[in-house]
Amino acid sequence: MYGMGMVKGLLVTLKNLTKRPFTVQYPEERLKQHPRFRGEEFVWYEERCTGCASCAKFCPLGIIKIVTSPSETAPAQGDKYLLEVFDIDIARCMFCGLCVEACPYDALFMGSGFEQSQYSRKEMVIGIDQLRQADKHPSTFFRPQLESAGYDPHQGQPLHWKDVGRESWRWHQHEKAGMRLESAAGSGNGDPIEAVDDLNSPDLGGTAEDAGAPEQTQ
Ligand code: SF4
Ligand code: SF4
Repeated sequence: MYGMGMVKGLLVTLKNLTKRPFTVQYPEERLKQHPRFRGEEFVWYEERCTGCASCAKFCPLGIIKIVTSPSETAPAQGDKYLLEVFDIDIARCMFCGLCVEACPYDALFMGSGFEQSQYSRKEMVIGIDQLRQADKHPSTFFRPQLESAGYDPHQGQPLHWKDVGRESWRWHQHEKAGMRLESAAGSGNGDPIEAVDDLNSPDLGGTAEDAGAPEQTQ
């Protein structure tokens, strides 16, 4: 019947007039982000990073650039690489999180922010110094250990590198012991952990903190 379409349209308008708006006036108001929100300020823990570049290799867009040189602390043993460049071009990032999933050492996390806008694309490249200095409020995306601890990056304290791994730091040393450490150093009794502890001794350039890293349970 003529005019029915208009009546139907007006009914929809009337129905929605009574509903509360679900948009907010940004930036005066901000919606609360989920703890698993994949934000743009990547959180990187240099202490956990071995420089393996798995994150760069798995990035489908190839926007992570890593340059390394042999480590100064344990070059012969292959303990880890020395990171010289760690750039992420977040202007091209699609926040898929594959780099975070690929990191075997829980050194890289998605961030929790979304306000990194800049005037030029060049300024959208996060460099190693920026990553070092950034607040450590990691997203809980692909990090069940943070989720099970009830961590909320928007409310909680910054997290220390020893508190963010899926396994204890001691276990991590075990992993590192598998990286050619056992045969290269140690007391010769075949205990990989002891071999790593030897590597961390002050004589070999380690620190007391490294040698005495307490066991963490996540
Ligand atoms: S989130 Fe995806 S696109 Fe962005 S750097 Fe990581 S792997 Fe690359
Ligand atoms: S995958 Fe993890 S450990 Fe390897 S270079 Fe990337 S952040 Fe570092």
